[in-house]
Amino acid sequence: MRLTTIKLAGFKSFVDPTTLHLPTNMTGVVGPNGCGKSNIIDAIRWVMGESAASRLRGDSLTDVIFSGSSARKPVGQATVELIFDNADGTIQGEYAQYAEISVKRQVTRDGQSSYFLNGARCRRRDITDLFLGTGLGPRSYSIIEQGMISQIIEAHPEELRMHLEEAAGISKYKERRKETESR
Ligand code: ATP
Ligand code: MG
Repeated sequence: MRLTTIKLAGFKSFVDPTTLHLPTNMTGVVGPNGCGKSNIIDAIRWVMGESAASRLRGDSLTDVIFSGSSARKPVGQATVELIFDNADGTIQGEYAQYAEISVKRQVTRDGQSSYFLNGARCRRRDITDLFLGTGLGPRSYSIIEQGMISQIIEAHPEELRMHLEEAAGISKYKERRKETESR
């Protein structure tokens, strides 16, 4: 599975609709300080369901919406869409039949978040479920940021085990068991 396209509008510094194509297995993003490189990573984590504002470098969840600049007024909503190539069948279950999977999240100033899977409205759960066990997700090891390596080295055994379970693809089943047991 590969992330091929990122579409942003009204998200942090990406006020105008912007489409980023990632045509190969390796893409580098370069630019001066403050140009929006880390905002792209925030966008990816946000779509996959990150709900802690601090992890998106903000104070509240609506901080991801473009808040205006000297030349532009603030906007009312932020939208990010990720398009994955699923030709290798990484995503299983209901969505396995799709060669391309689109995951979208939108938030408005009143704090309402909506999620979409291949264009159809869905719950946040449907998106986190989709990625469980693939190594992708808002807090998965597939996004490695500054300071994270030392965090893993210093992690408590339970935390380390969580990463190993996700890598081994069993976190999905543990999640389901927990759910069944709580019913
Ligand atoms: P560095 O090289 O220093 O890491 P960077 O390219 O990673 O820089 P980012 O942190 O992605 O930069 O972008 C920071 C910019 O995004 C700042 O100019 C900040 O004002 C802008 N920004 C962040 N949130 C918003 C928002 N809600 N509305 C408007 N601009 C925003
Ligand atoms: Mg940065």
